[in-house]
Amino acid sequence: MHLSDAYADGFGLSFEMFPPKTAAGDEALRVELARLAEYDPAFVSCTYGAGGSTRDRTLDWCRELKNDFGQNVTAHFTCVGAGTGDMAEWLAEARDAGVSNVMALRGDLPEGGPDEDPWQPAAGGLRYANELVAFLREQFPQFGIGVAGYPEKHPECPDPATDLANLKLKVDAGADAVFTQLFFTNDHFLRFRDACVTAGIDVPIIPGVMPVTDFGRIKRITAMCGSSFPKEFASALEAVKDDKAGQFEVGVDWAVKQCRELMDEGVPGMHFYVLNKAAATEQILDGMNLAPVAA
Ligand SMILES: Cc1cc2nc3c(=O)[nH]c(=O)nc-3n(C[C@H](O)[C@H](O)[C@H](O)COP(=O)(O)OP(=O)(O)OC[C@H]3O[C@@H](n4cnc5c(N)ncnc54)[C@H](O)[C@@H]3O)c2cc1C
Repeated sequence: MHLSDAYADGFGLSFEMFPPKTAAGDEALRVELARLAEYDPAFVSCTYGAGGSTRDRTLDWCRELKNDFGQNVTAHFTCVGAGTGDMAEWLAEARDAGVSNVMALRGDLPEGGPDEDPWQPAAGGLRYANELVAFLREQFPQFGIGVAGYPEKHPECPDPATDLANLKLKVDAGADAVFTQLFFTNDHFLRFRDACVTAGIDVPIIPGVMPVTDFGRIKRITAMCGSSFPKEFASALEAVKDDKAGQFEVGVDWAVKQCRELMDEGVPGMHFYVLNKAAATEQILDGMNLAPVAA
């Protein structure tokens, strides 16, 4: 399904996975994906490891999602560190694998990143995601295109207004939908959505939801991506820090409340960062009264 159709006829659900590092991880993921497939997602997306570290694994998983799971597939792709010839080669393979959409990303900068003044892309490469969107529109017009949006601004950007102007460049270059970085306070998302509308960004803005099931892991993730963690949520998790089941329950409860509010706010869809596990997302969807389609 092309992204421009994913939200046209009602609520669009999507799940994001990453390629495991081992054969045992692949086997375990297949079991989790079969459970999530019962919710009939608009698409499943597969991440692209930083600096192209999962170049082949991402393609393998896109093929499997398409051929064995019958899913509509969105392939994440980052342009940092690659030349356009190399990019075109990978994108042609993705197209031939039956990928419908590309999540067009710059990717995180290599060591030295933004402090390299000015940061230089690879020879013959692209500097920002808006250039990748333009490249895709020109060379691979069949793909739907998703881009990243940051309710709490991208960590490198000095202020929200500049970050929003940069997001508008991606949409003006041809993106079909914006998928947000994870957030735990809906006010951040709602303010961001209002600012997008004011800026004339008129494509679906899809909230990215990450179920928290392990406080230690989420602390590492938020430290990297710059999303803030509400004190109330942190204290509730701290109180059950030695109890895995307790952390799971607190995390699911928070996400259910968050997602119900977002539904009431009329979001056109939700993108779940499932971290290759089904259980928490299943419980959240049940809490939102979204039953498996097979049920
Ligand atoms: C939904 C989602 C999925 C993701 N999937 C992956 C993945 O699979 N693999 C991965 O490695 N990473 C992934 N990321 C993380 C992403 O790669 C990083 O956040 C990265 O640092 C920025 O990528 P971007 O596409 O947002 O970059 P850009 O949109 O290029 O923005 C990067 C920075 O540059 C600024 N900027 C943008 N355009 C311009 C311009 N024209 N002129 C000046 N400044 C500009 C922005 O304000 C921002 O600060 C994902 C993030 C999200 C939200």
